Amino acid sequence: MRIAVLAGGIGGARFLLGVRAWARAHDAEVTAIVNVGDDVTMHGLRICPDLDSIMYTLGGGSDTERGWGRAGESWTVKEELAKYGAEPTWFGLGDKDIATHLVRTRQLSAGLPLSEITRNLCERWQPGITLLPATDNKLETHAVLAPSGPLEPSAKDVSGARGAQGAIHFQEWWIRYRAEIPTETFVFLGAAESRPAPGVLEALESADVILVAPSNPVVSIAPILAVPGLRAALVGRRVVGVSPIIGGAPVRGMADRCLAVLGVPVTAEAVGALYADFLTAWLVDSGDTAEIDGVKVVRAPLWMTDEAATVAMVEAALAC
Ligand code: GDP
Ligand code: CA
Repeated sequence: MRIAVLAGGIGGARFLLGVRAWARAHDAEVTAIVNVGDDVTMHGLRICPDLDSIMYTLGGGSDTERGWGRAGESWTVKEELAKYGAEPTWFGLGDKDIATHLVRTRQLSAGLPLSEITRNLCERWQPGITLLPATDNKLETHAVLAPSGPLEPSAKDVSGARGAQGAIHFQEWWIRYRAEIPTETFVFLGAAESRPAPGVLEALESADVILVAPSNPVVSIAPILAVPGLRAALVGRRVVGVSPIIGGAPVRGMADRCLAVLGVPVTAEAVGALYADFLTAWLVDSGDTAEIDGVKVVRAPLWMTDEAATVAMVEAALAC
């Protein structure tokens, strides 16, 4: 059996731990198609947060308490950069993590595509699944900020943040501004000119089932679907999505702020409706309900508290 999974970073990684465990027990092959919209260049290094979250988590090297980056991390380079006043200072770059970005950036400079570099990095991490970036092309999520009105005396002055285009990289919006600035929408720069990375369409075409991980719908799954041809490859297939929203809240993180920008209610039903054109079934938490035209809604416990709970979720998704 072949399983393809569309995934963002942390939610995607946790879900994939369960998918991998299920696959090992059933001799199945898993390919994850991963968001690259968060990818960013800082201090000259190309950083791929979602690919790395999955690679480190499945490779047993992630910091499970902090929720991102490497276990046993140190921060010497970050401290030294701060002493030079080298911007950006708001982005967490650990020493061990930097080694990954150095290897990646060097291979990019040598002309290798991201999909091949990811395979090379995975030789060390042995994630037990195939990891593919959604595209080898540069596709970046940017937040288009609302025109700055008169500031409340207490408000943070972010008028300088808009830059020439009135947009900032998603990482800056998310980490530096904590998703707390008036925002009009998100754009996926480069998406229209991008192509699915080698192996992506093949993995979707040969999959017995395609799973949509409980990842952020706005900035993890949407940028994957924005790669031309990708969304169309899902229509008419067996596609089961897992809700990242439980009881009207995003469980962990700030996905609610991304949904709010688009005016989408923070409910399992509203998120499922974003995928209605290609979903066969939508898995919502036992305590939730949803009605989506043409989509079978199934209820199961959706808290990924540990691997066993996540395997049970995967089983429920595969039984849809
Ligand atoms: P990111 O790229 O690191 O932000 O991670 P993802 O986009 O892959 O996943 C983030 C989303 O995972 C959050 O917005 C949550 O809604 C969702 N999430 C996190 N933990 C759980 C969980 O235990 N159960 C479910 N159903 N969703 C979760
Ligand atoms: Ca992400």
